[in-house]
Amino acid sequence: MSKPIVRFAPSPTGHIHIGNTRVALLNALFARREGGTFVLRLDDTDLARSKREYAESIEADLRWLGIPPDVIVRQSERFDLYDEAAERLKALGRLYPCYETPEELEFRRKRQLARGLPPTYDRAALKLSDEERQKLESEGRRPHWRFRLDHTNVAWNDLVRGECHVDCGSLSDPVLVREDGTYLYTLPSVVDDIDLRITHVIRGEDHVTNTAVQIQIFEALGAHAPTFAHHSLLITASGEGLSKRLGHLSVRGLREAGLEPQAVASLAVLVGSAEAVRPIADLNELAKLIEFSHISRAPAKFDESELEHLNARLIHEMPYEAVRERLAELDADAGEAFWNAIRGNLTKVRDGAEWAKVVRGPVTPVIEDKDFVETAAGLLPPAPWDATTWKAWTEAVKGATGVKGKALFMPLRLALTGLGHGPELGALLPLIGPERARARLSGQAA
Ligand code: GLU
Repeated sequence: MSKPIVRFAPSPTGHIHIGNTRVALLNALFARREGGTFVLRLDDTDLARSKREYAESIEADLRWLGIPPDVIVRQSERFDLYDEAAERLKALGRLYPCYETPEELEFRRKRQLARGLPPTYDRAALKLSDEERQKLESEGRRPHWRFRLDHTNVAWNDLVRGECHVDCGSLSDPVLVREDGTYLYTLPSVVDDIDLRITHVIRGEDHVTNTAVQIQIFEALGAHAPTFAHHSLLITASGEGLSKRLGHLSVRGLREAGLEPQAVASLAVLVGSAEAVRPIADLNELAKLIEFSHISRAPAKFDESELEHLNARLIHEMPYEAVRERLAELDADAGEAFWNAIRGNLTKVRDGAEWAKVVRGPVTPVIEDKDFVETAAGLLPPAPWDATTWKAWTEAVKGATGVKGKALFMPLRLALTGLGHGPELGALLPLIGPERARARLSGQAA
């Protein structure tokens, strides 16, 4: 296979969500695995709704996910190309002017339905004479432009869905250019796919219905259609589709919630695939698991709470080096031994700050049985302390007091950390150190 060129083509009219992330990752990781190119195409032809801040946030989200685009193009800078393609289609007789108002179209549609006919556009505008057109224009009507479909059966071999066919004879000729001269999505997308030499169009199955039409446009413009892969869409556990309005599932919202990009990526890519959903820390490894023909056809249900589990599992294995800078930003970098001691207890990296405070202090000890804790303090082994100190100490306390199990460990934990839960004390004790430990065991905040 020659090197693929793929594109992720969001419209910058809102923040991208985990569903868009699925499209972006399938494209970017496929390109990366095959040594290809990942294009971010900003579909910003709707100048009123598209916003620069959204475009910037999409770029930032892709960087955070670890899939910065190789190339960025903006449709708003490419109108000349679309105009030129539209002129070519007009010259070929494939783009024709229509003057019906929405009310007229609706009236005809109802009449067709009442007669038991399919409610497709009847191509009345194709039969207009030059004089009739001039008359309509002199009345102030402006045309919208429809693509004249060939009434053939269009077939493509979809990498996800297999052989697909659409009988274009059953479709209305699609409108490509509105009355005010603006473009609908269909034509610019094809023009860009041709110009950027896109080899694979990987997108959600909500675009299957556009595909036959777009294939005809590719061919009318003298190009070969790319390969298509239409993957299933994500829905929430309660069966809702995702929309840009679901703020908490926006990539930005997930980042702000403290989730790791790899947790988001693992879920977005693996849900609805033949692979078990599990955290994959390395995007190159995740890329190897993409198999278009194994993506389920049914909408992929994902459970938000699964993100937290995946996140925790990732962090439990995360090496110190991968997290050192972020701990420093949280003022919680207490060294590798510290990280290894606490990571198994974390769901989010930022929760590490709580444990940095526990080892560095000040901690207000919780002491329920003063005598017991004092006795224990008297048995603390001499410095230097290491990973064996806790065991040696608690053995000594057990020998001296006869107390064992939870009744032994819990009062010591409460006194040393102020908390009833947490990482192994064997690992924490040397980090707390003799000075702070003695102070806390004697009831002082330290
Ligand atoms: N802007 C379109 C969308 O976000 C792009 C569809 C495509 O990939 O062709 O749905």
